[in-house]
Amino acid sequence: MSSKEKAIIIGGGISGKLAARVLSDYYNEIIIIERDQKPEGPFPRKGAPQGEHLHALLHAGEYGLEELFPDITEKFYSSGAININSTIDLSWFHHGSWKVRFDGGYRTTLQTRPHLEWHIEQYMKKIPNVTIQYNQIVQDYLYNKAENRIIGVELKTGSLRADLVVDESGVSSLTSSWMNKRGISIPSEKVDIDLSYISKQFELNNHHERDWKIKMIYPNPPQEKIGGTISKVEGNRYIVTLMGYHGAINEKEVLKGDRGFIELSKKLPILDIYQEIKEAKPLSKTSIYRIPTIIWRRFDKIGNLPNGLLLIGDTICRIDPVFGQGMSIAILEALSLQKLLQQHKNELHKIPRFFHKKSASIISPIWNMVITEDYRYPATTGKKPYGLTLQQWYAKNIFILSSQNQDVYDNFVKVMNLVSPVSSLMKPSIIKNVLTHAFSKNSKS
Ligand SMILES: Cc1cc2nc3c(=O)[nH]c(=O)nc-3n(C[C@H](O)[C@H](O)[C@H](O)COP(=O)(O)OP(=O)(O)OC[C@H]3O[C@@H](n4cnc5c(N)ncnc54)[C@H](O)[C@@H]3O)c2cc1C
Repeated sequence: MSSKEKAIIIGGGISGKLAARVLSDYYNEIIIIERDQKPEGPFPRKGAPQGEHLHALLHAGEYGLEELFPDITEKFYSSGAININSTIDLSWFHHGSWKVRFDGGYRTTLQTRPHLEWHIEQYMKKIPNVTIQYNQIVQDYLYNKAENRIIGVELKTGSLRADLVVDESGVSSLTSSWMNKRGISIPSEKVDIDLSYISKQFELNNHHERDWKIKMIYPNPPQEKIGGTISKVEGNRYIVTLMGYHGAINEKEVLKGDRGFIELSKKLPILDIYQEIKEAKPLSKTSIYRIPTIIWRRFDKIGNLPNGLLLIGDTICRIDPVFGQGMSIAILEALSLQKLLQQHKNELHKIPRFFHKKSASIISPIWNMVITEDYRYPATTGKKPYGLTLQQWYAKNIFILSSQNQDVYDNFVKVMNLVSPVSSLMKPSIIKNVLTHAFSKNSKS
């Protein structure tokens, strides 16, 4: 490795930190450029406003984080994160029925997103060749046209050269427009879902024992458009996140004091969350985040993408967050980047091309699974996947069976948590269950 090998990372969010961790084993110097101020603790920040809303970490994400930052899970718990049994302590009302609750042997950690990110930040401080420059905004790339190569970045205060530039600036990434003005167009897939997230934290009363740590009340589309989750998090608080598709939430009404939020919780398919918060003590302001469109930028499909540029995380794909996959996708991507670096350490210049293909293969089944659900609403627009009706029919049967059949739910949980492929829901025993359920239902009707 030559001594000039330096990587610049745009954005110090989850993906930025993960990529820095992985690249630090192969590059001499890593500089993260972050537009936010240096964090003073596990608090929400302007540059990642989604951090005010519930962030679940799936099993794949949790295992991957532990691989990259050994013992981080213990650190989460020691500062108050909640360690739950994933199928006993989660109470989930989905498509009109409650999932079976049983001991599947899986653990999940409940915490706020700022708490999770703060812990990662503590690990970053221990990596000697990584520095984070806060309060700095990347305004453009430095580009060598003759070589079609990104050679650094432009900041307000000057420019910085690097052998590799990694864009992790998230959904608001400007790479597409910076490429556009250089004649390189980035294709993208977009689906309009018009989703609003509204969140608030509460201290619940202790009048009764709760047999759950997290309760999810999801809508049964297309009739129901509003859902929500209440989850215990560090600090003996509960975060309540309500979400509504296609303009179902009147944001003005919701923002009318604490009552506006509580009133909204009455609009969920059942009143469980309302019952919990109607007399609870609000601990935070009401936060709103809008996701009009989800987007998958297809950097994997461009033949003339400049060399020396790598994209990762939400910069590539902002998925519908309802299934809590974004951070876990970023973690899976970081692990696959690590594997590529191990395999090609003597030809680092080849990594971006390999990586963009690899990330597409990580995203593709998840994107497909999520938009299959989004298209249950007729107002959702975009490019529909092949075989949508059949996929929706099959998935609906899996959802309903997950309320009756432990084995089906166990398989579904593994797919949802990205530890098993979607194809595991097509094994003969599950197909048989689905067909038996569908036919017996039809013969009764
Ligand atoms: C409402 C909502 C709820 C979600 N819930 C979940 C969930 O339950 N589970 C889950 O896994 N995922 C969830 N996600 C997805 C998750 O938030 C993202 O996948 C994750 O944050 C992606 O991390 P990232 O680092 O790629 O992007 P970000 O977290 O967006 O970080 C980008 C960083 O880049 C910085 N930046 C941007 N532009 C520049 C610039 N020009 N110069 C310098 N710095 C810049 C920003 O300040 C920011 O720090 C949710 C998303 C939303 C919107």
